[in-house]
Amino acid sequence: MKTIIRTISTFACTLLALSATLKAEEKRVVLTFDDSCKSHATFVAPLLKKNGFSATFYITEGFGFKKNKDLYMTWEEIKQLHDMGFEIGNHTKGHMNMRKLPEEKVITEIDYIDAQCVNHGIPKPVTFAYPGYAYSTPFSPCSVRPFRVFHVLGEKANS
Ligand SMILES: [Zn+2]
Repeated sequence: MKTIIRTISTFACTLLALSATLKAEEKRVVLTFDDSCKSHATFVAPLLKKNGFSATFYITEGFGFKKNKDLYMTWEEIKQLHDMGFEIGNHTKGHMNMRKLPEEKVITEIDYIDAQCVNHGIPKPVTFAYPGYAYSTPFSPCSVRPFRVFHVLGEKANS
């Protein structure tokens, strides 16, 4: 919990610093949040909205999504993020290492989140974030769906 609070505090300070220093036409920053954390709905999205920032939330049902609603959003909360004007992206059903999955399983993982979005009144995602930095896969999700952006998140992305 301390790590989550520290991360949120760091994020809030960074956001406020960005808000104070960036002029609209000077620089562009892409804000993305993955893993369907509850704090995205309760803290991050309202703060972003208040300061006029847009962002993409990459949704997965991995980790404790189905059982721990204290730490993970509900689909109703994810829909609220969409209704607030934020983009909802695909982060796969189970947040599994895609390097180890056969093509059929990759398709199933992506299609599941697409279907959940549509079932909850959210447009089918047009961007995708690889779970767990596993972007070097034998099979490219690009051949499954014409995603606009494939996203590799985190500091391990360049290693
Ligand atoms: Zn993730």
